[in-house]
Amino acid sequence: MAKVLCVLYDDPIDGYPTSYARDGLPELSGYPGGQTLPSPKGIDFTPGNLLGSVSGELGLRRFLEERGHTLVVTSDKDGDGSVFDRELPDADVVISQPFWPAYLTAERLARAPKLKLAVTAGIGSDHVDLDAAIAHGVTVAEVTYCNSISVAEHAVMMILSLVRDYLPAHQAVLDGGWNIADRVSRSYDVEGMHVGTVAAGRIGLAVLRRLKPFDVHLHYTDRHRLPAEVEEELGLTFHADAAAMVPHCDVVTVNAPLHPETEGLFDDRLIATMKRGAYLVNTARARIADRDAIVRALENGQLAGYAGDVWYPQPAPADHPWRSMPHHGMTPHISGSSLSAQARYAAGTREILESWLDGTPIREEYLIVDGGALAGAGAHSYSTRTR
Ligand code: NDP
Repeated sequence: MAKVLCVLYDDPIDGYPTSYARDGLPELSGYPGGQTLPSPKGIDFTPGNLLGSVSGELGLRRFLEERGHTLVVTSDKDGDGSVFDRELPDADVVISQPFWPAYLTAERLARAPKLKLAVTAGIGSDHVDLDAAIAHGVTVAEVTYCNSISVAEHAVMMILSLVRDYLPAHQAVLDGGWNIADRVSRSYDVEGMHVGTVAAGRIGLAVLRRLKPFDVHLHYTDRHRLPAEVEEELGLTFHADAAAMVPHCDVVTVNAPLHPETEGLFDDRLIATMKRGAYLVNTARARIADRDAIVRALENGQLAGYAGDVWYPQPAPADHPWRSMPHHGMTPHISGSSLSAQARYAAGTREILESWLDGTPIREEYLIVDGGALAGAGAHSYSTRTR
């Protein structure tokens, strides 16, 4: 029988909800491009309910306990003596979410001799040391596509709100103010701007598609070039790498995984090559940008705005400089955890567990590491320190 250790974010401060703003979720027929939605044999939760916090348990308890397995759910993941550290040594499976990551470092993996499977209930498995997972024979899987569109919507929202300077205008209303000049002196239209994405995978391409009707010039860079018909349909300009692309852009959106190739990409040097007053939106991973270089660029005007929902570490400490830097539109890490996304990644997590417990193959597109090497989606989009 397996012990499944699941790390989820805390319940709402006022307690687990007893009612919701809406009565359900729209039905989707599949993902863009034809990948099928998560398809577990069953679910024990109501789509649209809060599943990603401790009491939501990703809807897994009944399913696991009926089969005789043990489920431990906690939000206590950091610091000496955390519940996560205490429960890890005899866990067979760890489930964690990027929004509240249980960092599976090499040290922790060394203290988890029974661990065979690390599931990311979401997308982005950089909280797992993939080299160490490979060395320890741990399979790493994520719910590919589950929240890609959720994040794309958030990125578009952030681009619009930075360029139009929405958040300070809203704050003026809350404060009882009405000085129009104050509120428009940093407000522009997106129309006509050059917008580029670093990576045009599921999220990056969805951002490009959603921005097309705004009559902007679209640019991208990626390790693999998109099909010519997609480039033509969206009027895309391809650049060999981020360094070649960013000098052309008024807005840059980052949609690549964090791995050795992308870590620290937006440093002082790269930011200095951007147009003065460019906007940077990073909903991918915080460490793709150099934390202090972002602060400096906002303070000296090289960047007109920065937004995103990803931080390092998470949760971000109260004195994290991105909380107080000028002209930012940060949110906590929420973009991929809408109630809509939660229903998909809870179902996808159950699908992965069903496969693993039944000894049947996990979907290829969910795999990041398997059999001691990068695999599936991981082999396509990630690199390790040795590759
Ligand atoms: P995909 O795997 O569909 O896309 C990732 C893309 O990044 C691929 O096209 C990949 O290229 C490309 N890429 C990888 N390395 C580089 C590089 N060095 N330079 C340029 N492009 C590169 O994933 P998604 O679009 O679904 O997600 C992307 C990332 O967004 C995730 O890894 C995660 O970190 C983040 N994310 C954030 C969420 C949030 O809540 N804020 C939620 C979900 C994801 P190729 O495959 O062609 O090699």
